[in-house]
This record gives sequence, structure tokens and C-alpha cells, in this order.
Amino acid sequence: MKKIPYKIYLDEKEIPKQWYNLRADMTQDHSPMLHPGTLKPVTVTDLEPIFCKELALQELNNTDRFIDIPGPIYDFYKMYRPSPLIRAYFLERELQTPAKIFYKFEGNNTSGSHKLNSAIAQAYYAKEQGIKMLTTETGAGQWGTALSMACGFFGLDLTVYMVKISAQQKPYRKAIMETYGAKVIASPSDTTQIGRRMLSDNPDSGGSLGTAISEAVEVAAGTPDTRYVLGSVLNMVLLHQSIIGLETKTALEKYDIYPDIVIGCAGGGSNFGGLISAYMHDKLHGKQAPYFIAVEPVSCPTLTRGKFCYDFCDTGKVTPLAKMYTLGSSFIPSGNHAGGLRYHGMSPILSQLYHDGYIDEARSVEQTGVFAAAKLFARVEGLLPAPESSHAIRAAIDEALKCKETGEEKTIVFGLSGTGYFDMGAYIMYNSGSMTDNLPSDEELGKGFSGIPVL
Ligand SMILES: *Cc1c(COP(=O)(O)O)cnc(C)c1O
Repeated sequence: MKKIPYKIYLDEKEIPKQWYNLRADMTQDHSPMLHPGTLKPVTVTDLEPIFCKELALQELNNTDRFIDIPGPIYDFYKMYRPSPLIRAYFLERELQTPAKIFYKFEGNNTSGSHKLNSAIAQAYYAKEQGIKMLTTETGAGQWGTALSMACGFFGLDLTVYMVKISAQQKPYRKAIMETYGAKVIASPSDTTQIGRRMLSDNPDSGGSLGTAISEAVEVAAGTPDTRYVLGSVLNMVLLHQSIIGLETKTALEKYDIYPDIVIGCAGGGSNFGGLISAYMHDKLHGKQAPYFIAVEPVSCPTLTRGKFCYDFCDTGKVTPLAKMYTLGSSFIPSGNHAGGLRYHGMSPILSQLYHDGYIDEARSVEQTGVFAAAKLFARVEGLLPAPESSHAIRAAIDEALKCKETGEEKTIVFGLSGTGYFDMGAYIMYNSGSMTDNLPSDEELGKGFSGIPVL
């Protein structure tokens, strides 16, 4: 067998020319989004006041297996793609495991995450349509940063509603977005009706992703030549992120490697959905496939403890309803949760695949264990991982340790979705020993479930 290098780089020409649309191959076609007023399946016409037309078409496209990546997006991809697939030789040595561990590193761009893959696509389609301004929300800040870069590149205005607690904790994230030309508003804010309502109900609210989404949608709906964009959860976002998995498969095929286990962290599901895409293709076609593990925090246990049903995508209940695993649109993880992945729902594509058994396992992990894994990984592999990505590292380490016990030489691939330079507050907490874990009680989760609409 060919010696496997530390990094498997692809040639620029090997960047996939098309995205892969998982839904075209899904046997159990997933349930359509519903209009919040009529409860009928949404049409492109329903979505058009909020989303760019081409993106609305992609969102509802259940039939085209491959979709061409337009030239200007492809050219932008060339600036930071193909992303490296790295063999974690040092981690393997540290763990003394017979497993081979690889990670696909998506943090080598200024946004520090995979989010740029979809941000540049969404900004491009907006520009093509003659849209002047985009609105969005951001939690930890990676999506807002990625979209600021994309809008800066194509000359679009951008307003970002940033979850207030996050804006306070991460002033430098805000500064980067502003450097790329975005306007950043802490949410809840007094610039929207829903924001004012939230503030009058709870003036000290630190905000939530669900509320920030409602604010961004409200502004997009009420401002001419303005549309709303979202960085995860949606079908079109998983489509754009399929580039991660397509590249991964191409890279491993050069060394005749087919993974046994593929692991990713799951917040709204976009990096995990992207990473598994090319291998899920095999599974959907009845071929051999890896064992897929989605990893989430115990404090936001969407797949492991959520309900699979129709729910709103935002707290203000202005967005369409999606059938997905959900903790209820009012769910907010406890205050001590530091590691991202805090959205109440999950990609409808991944939800359906998990429900139908195509995703083998969802696993929840405690944040102290996540940061222990992050610290170990940083020390031996050099890269400082994002707390989100570190959920995948935790599971990869645990799988590699199982191999050590059994002597199995499994090949494990995980997604290193981003870097953690702006998450040092959480690292400080961990390093000082003050980080705690929180397992929400059934009662606490019940509060979120009680807000799920009965259809
Ligand atoms: C946003 C983000 C995530 C979580 O979002 P998904 O849509 O689940 O991928 C994970 N890792 C990083 C680095 C992120 O920025």
C-alpha cells in the first residue's frame, strides 16, 4: 500500500464541479416545509419574499442529483479549497491505537469554519438576482463572519443579528464582521417588533438563535431588495456543504481507503451533512457504507432526546414549519453551556435519515469531556479546535480507544469543522476548572416540547 502522507491535498482541478443533492437519492422523501399560515407545503412563490429565488428553488429541489457550481463561486472556492484531509498520526500515537484517524479540516479560511462554503454561494445568488442587502443571524459568530466575507466580496450590504450574550463575549468577532463591511446588531434589539417584544418580556435576555432569526427575517420581509439567508439547517445549505464530503471521498480514494466510521458534530447539521454526503450516497444506493455518528452536546440534545415532528425554525414563529428533530423553538441551553451547537432543531434531511436508520448513531457528550479532547488534540496535532468541532474529536478519540481494546484497525474520519481562536472564554473556563456539565431534566425539556405546535 502507498504510504499515506500527513496531509492529502487535492489538486485545484479536483474541487468538485457540482454539489450533490442527497434528497434525489433518499428513498423516504422527507416531508415538505409547511407555510406557517396555511399549513400547506411551501412553494417557491411563498419563499421568494424571504429567500433569493435560486436558493428557494434549491431548497425545494428533490430531484436533481447534481447541481452545477457556478463559475464565480468555484473561483472563490479556489482561494481556500480543496481543504486538506489530515492523517492524525500524532493523535494515533498519543492514544496508542491501531485505528487510522483522518480529519477534514475546514478551518483554513478567515471565518475559521466550513460556513464560507455556503455563505459564498448564497451571496452569489443574491447578487445575481439584483438584491442589495442580506440579513442573517449569528450565534457564536462563524456564520456572520463567513457571510460578511462573502457579502464584502460581492459588494452586498449585510445586517447581522448577533445573539447578545455572544456579542458581549466575542467583541473581536463583531470587529471582523465590521471590517468586512457588515452592520452587527445585538439581539434581541429594539430595531424589530419581535425584538422589542422579547425585550419587554425580559429586558435582561441574553438572546437566542431563534430570536435572532426572527429579527433577521422580519427586517428582510419589510425592506425592499433585501433577503434573508441562513447558515445551517436548510436543504440548500447541506447541498453547498456536500463539497466537504465529495472532496474527502476523492482524497481517500487516492489511497484506496474506505472509512469504517465517519463522525461529525451536529448543531443544525450542515458540516456533518456535508461530510457524510458522498458516503451516504453509497448507503442510499444499497452499497457498503461507513458507520455514521452525529455528535451533539448533552445540554442541547436535539437528536438524542428531541421529538421528530413539525416545528417552527425560530422563536417568533414567523418561519415555515419543518419536520425535524426538535427541542421546541423556545428551547435555550442552560447558561453554563459554552460549546456552541445550541440550535433547537436539526436539518430535516439529517432528521429523516436518522429516523430511517441511515445515520447509525447520534451521541451526546458532556462539555468537560469535549474540552479535554480539544486540549489533547491541540497539544498533539497543533490545531486549536472550535468547541463545536471538539464534539467530533471527543467521539473520534472514544472510537479510537475502543479499537485499542479490541485491536481493530478501523479507519475513522471526522470533521474538524473549524478553529477556536474566538472561543478562548470557554477554554479559560475549562483551564481554570470552573466548567461544569449540565444534563437537562425531562421536566426542563418538557417546557420546550410544550411549545411545539399541534397540527
Ligand atoms: C456553525 C458551526 C458548527 C455547527 O453547525 P452545523 O450546521 O451543525 O455544522 C460546527 N462547527 C463549526 C466550526 C461551526 O462554525
